Amino acid sequence: MREWENNIRKVTPYTPGEQPKQPNVIKLNTNENPYPPSPMVLNALRQMTTETMRKYPDPTAGELVSAIAREYRTRPEQVFVGVGSDDVLAMCFLTFFNSEKPILFPDITYSFYDVWADLFRIPYECPPLNDKFEIVKEDYYRENGGVVFPNPNAPTGVQMPLADIEDILQHNQDVIVIVDEAYIDFGGLSARALLEKYENLLIVQTFSKSRCMAGMRIGYAFGSEELIRHLNDVKYSFNSYTMNEAAIRLGAAAVSDSMYLMETRHKIVETRERAKKELAQLGFSCTDSLANFLFVTHETCPARELFEALKAEGIYVRYFDKPRIDNYLRITIGTDEEMDALYRFLRDYLRV
Ligand SMILES: *Cc1c(COP(=O)(O)O)cnc(C)c1O
Repeated sequence: MREWENNIRKVTPYTPGEQPKQPNVIKLNTNENPYPPSPMVLNALRQMTTETMRKYPDPTAGELVSAIAREYRTRPEQVFVGVGSDDVLAMCFLTFFNSEKPILFPDITYSFYDVWADLFRIPYECPPLNDKFEIVKEDYYRENGGVVFPNPNAPTGVQMPLADIEDILQHNQDVIVIVDEAYIDFGGLSARALLEKYENLLIVQTFSKSRCMAGMRIGYAFGSEELIRHLNDVKYSFNSYTMNEAAIRLGAAAVSDSMYLMETRHKIVETRERAKKELAQLGFSCTDSLANFLFVTHETCPARELFEALKAEGIYVRYFDKPRIDNYLRITIGTDEEMDALYRFLRDYLRV
């Protein structure tokens, strides 16, 4: 073996859902929003010129940070922004999880957490969800180097009650607790209310799902001024200009349009609740998801078979070949028309 091979940082990368090249597929596999972003975003895009591209962007992304702070009635000093919440979460792991003790996150959760932990050489343990796919709060009472979980959880969509989150915070005052609220706008209750009480709490959100802007890569976090300062110190030691000018401007425009957010999320919630009923009639059971996806299993037909059959039909959903969830499909909520096509195919395929 060549000597330098010993010195390579070897990692198993995260595998994102497929982005099929062919047109006319029904894409229900990566939790994108089926609706376009707010019309304000197009206005802001039209105001961009090549001159605005010639210069470096504001390293503090001040316009975006202020817009988020204004919308969420907090101070700009309590807001951190990054290139999607993946970037924000990676920065959080790098900044806050530096003890020798294992960090804790559920066995079934966002599959990027273990990738970052491995990349940054952070030890971790994964307490199992119970058989209803709920986080068992008592599992987080033990000594640890930090806690992170999504709420609602992914890929199950199951929400943890705010009282349980507070209980986990009360038992973990010596470490940073991160609540990943990628899906909170689809009906869950945000833990932002707890920020005043717990200076070790960080809440991470994203423009990729509820704000219909996955392609722009905008994520953000709320936390105490002190935590945000530490995050920025690490960020500026890595890359001063993570947010590009377009992301800053279009993000600021999007976040200010709260009416549009309410309209689109209402449509998605309606479609989701109808989907729960339609799929139940087709023999599926599904978790009580509060996200923009459903997590379903069929009474007779194996998930992997369904996944392949749907794909052959041009309907993409997500399948995870992992212990405990390898007979489940995660189906993103699309438009009503897309969902109708899904039910039609399933009715036919399952001969219901
Ligand atoms: C989608 C998702 C993210 C990351 O989204 P970005 O596009 O990077 O903002 C983070 N956490 C969870 C649980 C997600 O589902």
